[in-house]
Amino acid sequence: MSETIPAGFASLGLPFPILRSLDELGYEAPSPIQAAGIPPLLEGKDVLGMAQTGTGKTAAFALPLLARTQADFKSPQVLVLAPTRELAQQVAEAVKTYSRYVDGINVTAIYGGTDYGSQLRELKRGPQWVVGTPGRVMDHLRRGSLNLADIKAVVLDEADEMLRMGFIDDVNWILEHTPRSRQVALFSATMPREIQQVAETHLKDPVQVKIQTKTTTNDKITQKYWFVAGAHKNDALLRLAETEEFDAMMVFVRTKQATEEVADFMQANGFRCQPLNGDIPQQLREKAVEKLKAGQLDMIVATDVAARGLDVERISHVINYDIPQDTESYVHRIGRTGRAGREGVAIAFVRGREKRMLRDIERATRQQIEEIQLPTAKDVNERRKTRFQQQVLEAINPEKNKIFRDILENVQLQNELDPLDLAAAVAALMQGEKPLFIDENEDRRPRREEREPREPRERRERGDRPERGERRERKSSPDSAPRPLKGKPDVEMIRYWVGVGYEHGLKPGNLVGAIANEADLDSGFIGHIEIFDAYSVVDLPGGMPNETMNVLKKARVCGQSLNMRPYRADLSSVERPARPPRRAEGGRSEGGRSEGGRADRGNGPRRAPRKPRA
Ligand code: AMP
Repeated sequence: MSETIPAGFASLGLPFPILRSLDELGYEAPSPIQAAGIPPLLEGKDVLGMAQTGTGKTAAFALPLLARTQADFKSPQVLVLAPTRELAQQVAEAVKTYSRYVDGINVTAIYGGTDYGSQLRELKRGPQWVVGTPGRVMDHLRRGSLNLADIKAVVLDEADEMLRMGFIDDVNWILEHTPRSRQVALFSATMPREIQQVAETHLKDPVQVKIQTKTTTNDKITQKYWFVAGAHKNDALLRLAETEEFDAMMVFVRTKQATEEVADFMQANGFRCQPLNGDIPQQLREKAVEKLKAGQLDMIVATDVAARGLDVERISHVINYDIPQDTESYVHRIGRTGRAGREGVAIAFVRGREKRMLRDIERATRQQIEEIQLPTAKDVNERRKTRFQQQVLEAINPEKNKIFRDILENVQLQNELDPLDLAAAVAALMQGEKPLFIDENEDRRPRREEREPREPRERRERGDRPERGERRERKSSPDSAPRPLKGKPDVEMIRYWVGVGYEHGLKPGNLVGAIANEADLDSGFIGHIEIFDAYSVVDLPGGMPNETMNVLKKARVCGQSLNMRPYRADLSSVERPARPPRRAEGGRSEGGRSEGGRADRGNGPRRAPRKPRA
């Protein structure tokens, strides 16, 4: 390993094996949420953190709690609850990476949509860390395959998402089944009342961690973002670099490794580009900056730490290849352009899950950030053609090129060649294997969309809580035709029947959470939901694979098997679950509906009219 143990992290009191993995990952300094959250968590205090994905919050809780984990004691000590299987996997992977050099740590992810067999086997090995979605964690607790008696810390990750997906009662239930002495870290991008209530009930005198934001930006800087979808960030950067008129470009990435990788890629594509990171000796860093100033470099790819204080008037473009971890860093980064009264452009690459950060940046900078589309392959090819023509014209110099002229004249005369064919052959030789043009079909291929952030709008479309003043009509049976999914016009929806309804304590969020996790389906694709006494209907995209349908048939929500099948209006009123609804432990229904039939917890819908009994 290199000798550069990340200084900032070391001063936070983290043990050496963890620092070693951070060094390997290329983390140079703690992000604000890490700097503020790690010390109290290391001391065993509870933490209430306002942070979202992209801020480094996973490391903020994982590093100190790993430091407090007893590696030689094979029983679950840290439980992380996450809203989706995707996030559970990500967190588990991150914890594994951070604990690479800590001997004997086992991490297990448990989530819906996969069989129990492998999860049971993993749980038997006595992992110290269990990361799971609330539904599956509850299942394992009920089966006795997960024991929380030795839990020292619980992390609630993306608590507001768990609330939105209808898991908050499950979260409360799980917390109630952990030892009172445990430490709790709650992270949430927003703090709605229900989350504050969770904090008040389960956290002891928590240290509150909220990152302050700076609000000044230069109005000479035009801010834009590209929603990362369908193309690799490297290709996107290349397309922008090839089509934007720029003097010098500053590209910001998160890690030291990324500075090298991106710089290599841009160099391989003909740009004069260098990385700038904390591992590069100061002298060489200064040299790179001097070259950028002198116009001998086109771009620098840097981490925040390495770019501190950099002042180069020529920088006309800042690319946030990785979105920064807080708004203040964003303001610092884009401040590298628009210097000395010049105009500047800042373009951020934003992934679906990072859109919230974008909104925060807009709020903090009080400027709208306009979405851009990437230049098309055709645009890029036009540019390449023009550049090629310019280069050829600039290279015409009969005196200087006399040797080549003589050789080519000979070749032409001896072979009776068309001079244009000859020139083309020379150009092809110069170009080598790499095609001059991008394949324009690339833009026509279907592109995988990044997951959409979950917007409240979707909630309304699914028929969740009515907005203030909005009234629901009393209905005795569902509409027979599925509704098209707004905002996703190409998706053909199919209406399905599921064997769980109000009398089992169902709220729309329970169904959304279960379907999203079990079928690994973006919740944005879950359409309209209507809940009736004994059953519900839900619109889902057509063409779901049989495997997924089988998983959904068997999935359990509020103690009921979904038994999902295509909806038939003629059968709906007679279809009822075969058994009376099962009550969960402690007399509480799994869906969290309280006794007396009122769905009175915050996130669920206000009670929609019941279907009159036949
Ligand atoms: P998170 O907010 O936990 O989802 O983290 C977002 C990304 O930032 C992940 O790719 C992390 O690996 C990365 N990251 C977290 N902390 C740091 C750090 N201190 N320096 C550089 N990258 C980091």
